[in-house]
Order: sequence, then structure tokens, then C-alpha cells
Amino acid sequence: MEFPATSPAIGGGQLRPFALALALLLAACVPAQPGLPVGAGKAAADPGVTRCSDGSTTIDGDFPGAGFARCEVLGKGWFRLAIEPEDANVTNCSPWYAFRAASKAEGKVKVDLDYASCGHRYQPKIGLPGSGWERLDPAAIEVREKGKLRNARLTVPVSPAPVILAGQELLLPDAYSAWMDRHAANPAMTRSRLGLSAQGRPIERLQIAGPVPARQQVVLLGRQHPPEVTGGLAMIAFVDRLLEDDPLARAYRARFTTQVVPLLNPDGVVNGHWRHGTGGVDLNRDWGPFTQPETQLMRDMLLGIEADPDRELVLFLDFHSTRYDTIYTLLPGLPTNPPGFLPAWLADYAARLPDYTVREEPGHNAALPVSKAWVYDRFGVPTATYEIGDETDRELIRRLGRAAAEAMMASLLAGADAPQ
Ligand SMILES: [Zn+2]
Repeated sequence: MEFPATSPAIGGGQLRPFALALALLLAACVPAQPGLPVGAGKAAADPGVTRCSDGSTTIDGDFPGAGFARCEVLGKGWFRLAIEPEDANVTNCSPWYAFRAASKAEGKVKVDLDYASCGHRYQPKIGLPGSGWERLDPAAIEVREKGKLRNARLTVPVSPAPVILAGQELLLPDAYSAWMDRHAANPAMTRSRLGLSAQGRPIERLQIAGPVPARQQVVLLGRQHPPEVTGGLAMIAFVDRLLEDDPLARAYRARFTTQVVPLLNPDGVVNGHWRHGTGGVDLNRDWGPFTQPETQLMRDMLLGIEADPDRELVLFLDFHSTRYDTIYTLLPGLPTNPPGFLPAWLADYAARLPDYTVREEPGHNAALPVSKAWVYDRFGVPTATYEIGDETDRELIRRLGRAAAEAMMASLLAGADAPQ
């Protein structure tokens, strides 16, 4: 979706709470949590290269979510950042970058993003003190890709107040935590710790239920892939809708209990990774091998539901981002229990969005060890991967997340009430 050139702001209503987290990042270098590497993790063995200065302007990566491997001064007001994946096994092109810039005087500097592979994908977002995130003016972006040259030159406004430039607005563990805090008084929500990531960060779980938790379980998963912020924003809007106090949400919660794991890969997010956790593995290619602590937590949670005579899994949705909005579903004709959910959900979703075209791609990655395939193969329930485009308008993302939640609730309730 194109965003209007005259209005670069991307922050819809749901982004306002994250402005506080941005303010903290811009106010000062964020101190590292004890024992945890913070910042551009891939450069941790080579200290000093995540900060460089031409004497007036300083570029740094000493904040959670930062992403670049090395910084180099090419001239006065001209910098080069090497943008590299976190390890040699990364094959997916999600070339994340994030850096902070501050200058002794107001002005503009050139920052060359030099991509080791893939090239420029994410349109820059600029985090400004006091006003949240906006898209960088398209006139300030020059993409140069020819032969081995994979370079995007950004013209960045600088001043003594630091700004952050990033592939997407930063949606860090603290922002998820603040979001969950805002629902703390809602009796429909219970927050607990599912477990710890490889680097010891908490992986949180929300249970959304009525006064008497229902037997039928819906499982929602988010942020297996660090740069996939837009899928995370959709999931937040989706979950917010499930927690509202209206007849549809109350009826849904009376019949279905929802388990939400909104941020499965906090290590990858904090370390500014393109794709992996810290084990050199794509978490969404580990459903089957289960070599990583994060995917093991999900496996154990799902097997725990299966082993519990008082609970029954009925649906699994995994939130991601790609270059456009789409929903990866199961190959046509595959039986599911409950039957018929996916077509009913997509039809209801489309009906709620008359000005929007719902795209569905059945069977995507069916042969790979991805969450959707594993959960379907193991439990036979409907499963889908809900993908939001990298640059989809943020207010539209909020609408999509809400509509998808309403369609899910209505379709599950209709299926539960249908004669068997
Ligand atoms: Zn993904």
C-alpha cells in the first residue's frame, strides 16, 4: 500500500503507547541488562565499531533493536554502515537495520547502508523525540543497486536531540510489556511466563478467558522473526479486540480460551537480527526438529493442551510480515477438526473489509518444518499464517487485526453452534 507523500506519519492510535519506549531510547543510551548483550549483537566481538563520529555527528548502535555490523566515517557528514545478517546461515532477505544519530549542530548527514546481501527492503522509519515514528521523506532515500552494489543512501536530519532510523518502528520487549500492563486490570486476561529465551529473556504468555475457562483452546503466536513488526502490530490489535467488553467478545470468551505468545524471539529482536534467534536457526524452520529453547516452549505448551483432558486445541494462528498482506492457509481439501473454519473465517473477514481485497495462499511452505504445517500434522486443527505487508498503512493494520479477530470469533461461535 502506498503511503501519502504529504503525511509521513505512520503512527496510528495503537502506536502512541510505543512513543514512550521511543522516548526512553532517544533520551540516553539504554543500559544493558546484567549478563545480556545489547545492541548490534553481531558486532559484539569487535567493540567500537557500533559507534563512529566525524567530530560533530555520532552514529551508534548501543540500544536494543540496533542493527548494523560496522560503522565507518567516509568524510565530514558522511557515514557507511555495513548491514549484515547475524550469522552465515541466514538465507531469508529481511535486511534489518537500525541506528541512532545525534549531532552537535542541526544539519543533515549522509548515511550509506551497504548491504552484504539482499539489498534495500525496508523503507526507513525515523523516531523523533516527542513525536513518535514517521516515514523518512522518500526524497531522502537513494537506492543504488547495480551488480554487487547494494546500497541505500539516506539523508538524515540531525541535531543535538538523537533520532533513530530503522527498517521499521522499534517494537521491543519493553513495548510488549507496557501493552500487557495496560490490560492488567482486565479480568479476562492472565499473564504468565511461558519460559526463557536462549539468552534468558522472558517469553510471556497471556491467557484470555471467561470467568470459567472454556475447554476449547485457540493459540496465537507472534514475532518468530525479528523484523516482522507489522505482523506484531496486527497481533496487538487482534488481541486487544478479543479483550473488549462487548457481546461478541464476551460470547467468544465464554466458549473459547485463547493462549497468546506475542513475542517468541526476544533475543533476535533485541539483537537486531534479520531472521534467527541466537542459535543460528530460523525458529519457523524448527517445528519438528525443535532444537531451540523457544520452539521447545511452544511444542511443550501445545502438547500440554493435548495431554489435558479438560482442554482441546481448536485453532492455531501465527502472525508474520512479508512484502504484502496475505494469509497462508492449508491446501484445499485437507480435513480439519473443527471442519470448515478457514473458509468461513476468510469469508467473514472479507465481508468486514469491503474496501480491501483479502489474499489467501493455500499450502504455502507446506513441506517445510514451519509452525502451520507442524501444528496441522500433529493435531489436525485449522492453522494459518497471517502475514502483513512491510509498508502497509499502520491504521489499516489496526483495522485488519480487529476485523480478523472479529471474523475469527464469529466463525468459531457459528461452528460451535452448528448441528454436528
Ligand atoms: Zn515470518
